[in-house]
Amino acid sequence: MDLTQLKADLDGIEMDDRPSVLKAKSRDFYWYSPILKRQLDGFTADLVVSPRDEAEVIRVLAACYRHKVPVTVRGGGTGNYGQAMPLNGGVVLHMQHLTGISDLGDDHVTVRSGTIIEHIERHLRDNGREIRLFPSTTATATIGGFIAGGSSGVGAIRWGGLRNPANIRRVRLVTMEETPRVLDLTGHDIHKAAHAYGVNGVMTEIELPVDPAGDWVDVMVTTPDFISANLLAIELGESLLLRMLSTFAPPVPELFFQRYRPHAGTGKGVIALMVARHDLPTLEARVAAWPGADISYRADRADPADRLPALFEMAWNHTTLRAIRIDPSLTYLQMMFPRESMADTIAALDARFGDELMLHCEYTRFNGVVSPVAMPIVRFTTEERLEDLVRILETDFPITVFNPHRVTLEEGGMKRTDISQLEFKRQTDPLGLMNPGKMIAWTHPDWTPDSGKNFLFTE
Ligand SMILES: Cc1cc2nc3c(=O)[nH]c(=O)nc-3n(C[C@H](O)[C@H](O)[C@H](O)COP(=O)(O)OP(=O)(O)OC[C@H]3O[C@@H](n4cnc5c(N)ncnc54)[C@H](O)[C@@H]3O)c2cc1C
Repeated sequence: MDLTQLKADLDGIEMDDRPSVLKAKSRDFYWYSPILKRQLDGFTADLVVSPRDEAEVIRVLAACYRHKVPVTVRGGGTGNYGQAMPLNGGVVLHMQHLTGISDLGDDHVTVRSGTIIEHIERHLRDNGREIRLFPSTTATATIGGFIAGGSSGVGAIRWGGLRNPANIRRVRLVTMEETPRVLDLTGHDIHKAAHAYGVNGVMTEIELPVDPAGDWVDVMVTTPDFISANLLAIELGESLLLRMLSTFAPPVPELFFQRYRPHAGTGKGVIALMVARHDLPTLEARVAAWPGADISYRADRADPADRLPALFEMAWNHTTLRAIRIDPSLTYLQMMFPRESMADTIAALDARFGDELMLHCEYTRFNGVVSPVAMPIVRFTTEERLEDLVRILETDFPITVFNPHRVTLEEGGMKRTDISQLEFKRQTDPLGLMNPGKMIAWTHPDWTPDSGKNFLFTE
């Protein structure tokens, strides 16, 4: 890497190579995983570059191509799997200045990719609109990082996750070539770049669908146990207009949710939801008819002094964050089981693992069907036990694990090579300089999944 020449070529563009900045901007929330923490702690970029606009992004990519310097894009750095960590050093391309809304129509918004998601939602609400999906990190995550690294979030119970083609309209992408091209991806092509960890280009602009702003009310419901919380959640998910639907097994809320704890009861299942105000009477009726269920908190009835922070800040991966803050030895998993066998699966997991696995589910819509995704808190003992746990869950239960203790696209979720993303990378990043190490197929096209073995590039 000829960094001296690279810096000369980038004259006029904001750059930083102070060691403290290099270290800070080379990290994300990889430390959620004790395995990734051990593996990735030492990886650091050589230079942080913060372009002001798309023209500067093009200049940076052309110069990095010329000098064969790897580039890893960084949004808010809230990703969980070391997605934004530069495994081969080089440049971290910080999108902090590519912000702002360029167009707002009745049914769409166009934003620069470094825009913080909460800022988009605020602007939309001021104009009577709302975004469809956002991660619970909305206050710090960027829209580009969400689309390149995230998968789902608040809104999924209504709209499904980011893979639902209706949830992203257009992605504008700069390629990593001698003369970078600017591509506008629409329709099916969007998924060549979405959830690809930025391995096949830099997103500069995103167009999203928007909808009339809803009037959402945060509500907590307690139930006698976790299975009944999930059965009631499915009934509510199918009968009410919701923006979020989450369930928590005891003792998760009691142990980890300090502010929310008084509304969680003891030994109870808990449902947290965002419900349309006009559906509150139906919610009341459904909960009243459910044996042992109670509404324990309603934001619309809470005294302003007692009003809780937004309930989505106890859901999605904020559940894990709250648990780790109380006990840093804890970690987590992400998994899916069929809705039909949900009650049996929960009972079997409880019998087999006890509080080694403390369950929490987020509800989404798969092909229109209200379906659970589980993100259990795990009591970590050793890396071997954690690997074993994943193996047992996948072999002895009807469970698919999206392993959050892996840094590669294939091992983390897909369990296979996404051929369209690989083909696209061949066209957009022929030298393999974009976020190297995150796509196994780039260097090892014959790789097949093998739970227990771990793939880490360091070349
Ligand atoms: C407490 C907590 C809660 C979370 N909750 C959720 C949740 O509800 N749903 C969810 O899906 N995720 C969740 N996450 C994961 C993460 O916050 C989200 O995926 C978030 O949207 C990532 O955005 P970011 O700007 O921080 O991206 P970063 O972490 O900066 O980047 C993520 C990936 O995208 C790439 N990238 C970033 N910007 C671009 C770009 N412009 N062009 C190309 N590639 C780019 C990066 O290289 C990296 O591979 C959570 C994480 C934490 C720590």
